[in-house]
Amino acid sequence: MSATTNRIALVTGANKGIGFEAARGIAKAGYTLLLAARNPAAGRQAAANLAQEGLDVRFVALDVTRAESISAAAARIEADFGKLDVLVNNAGITDSDDGPPSRARVDAIERVLSTNFLGAVATAQAMLPLLRKSDAGRIVNVSSDLGSITRHGDPTWKYAHVKVLGYCASKAALNMFTVQLAFELNDQGIKVNSVNPGFTATDLNAHRGQQTVKEGAAEVVRVALMEHGPSGKFLETGGELVW
Ligand code: NAP
Repeated sequence: MSATTNRIALVTGANKGIGFEAARGIAKAGYTLLLAARNPAAGRQAAANLAQEGLDVRFVALDVTRAESISAAAARIEADFGKLDVLVNNAGITDSDDGPPSRARVDAIERVLSTNFLGAVATAQAMLPLLRKSDAGRIVNVSSDLGSITRHGDPTWKYAHVKVLGYCASKAALNMFTVQLAFELNDQGIKVNSVNPGFTATDLNAHRGQQTVKEGAAEVVRVALMEHGPSGKFLETGGELVW
């Protein structure tokens, strides 16, 4: 099928939390929103909830840790739309056996890296041929200030005590992916940025975050919708973060 003139965005891990709210925000801007989730029942329900608000939202099955699931999602987007304008790599996990560097379990670190870092890399690589067919392709990697090595090196930083090795390393690695991919795609018109949503009340942190999901998703949505914005940046509401 030839590329549609509709603008198409894909958000991973969008059945709840920041991803769901980002999906809503992007769809409200007039995009056809592909709401990706690993759990089909939860994904279909979330897509139906947003469709009831009058938004063009469709469920796509996508487990970012399963290569065959990623390639099936890419094939479906290719068949249905012929292109992709925006990819938001939002899917992410924490793990109760993750923890401080002296005792975080290696298998927990591996699981977190597998979803938060390798999942985003694999999804982006699979979607790149479709993003290249957009006039203004964008990738937003949902990172965290917990991935900032500079911040972790400052003992006075307010989250300096949060030394959860696997999670923090996964977001630092995701940031490296952002910088390197932005450099590589610089002359191809595809923007790649990391966004820190800020500490947001979701299932990920047992709702201890101070922001609402609407506040947490705001910068993700803003950067996702920016057709002529910067590339290779680490952004949060109100400005740029140190790597
Ligand atoms: P959440 O409510 O727990 O949502 C996480 C989403 O990721 C869920 O939809 C989950 O699906 C999905 N997911 C997990 N593993 C997946 C996989 N293998 N394939 C596809 N989807 C998968 O957490 P959240 O706080 O909204 O987190 C969203 C992103 O924001 C994450 O990358 C997180 O690291 C980042 N972040 C959050 C905060 C915060 O304070 N909340 C701060 C900074 C960054 P299931 O429902 O099936 O588990």
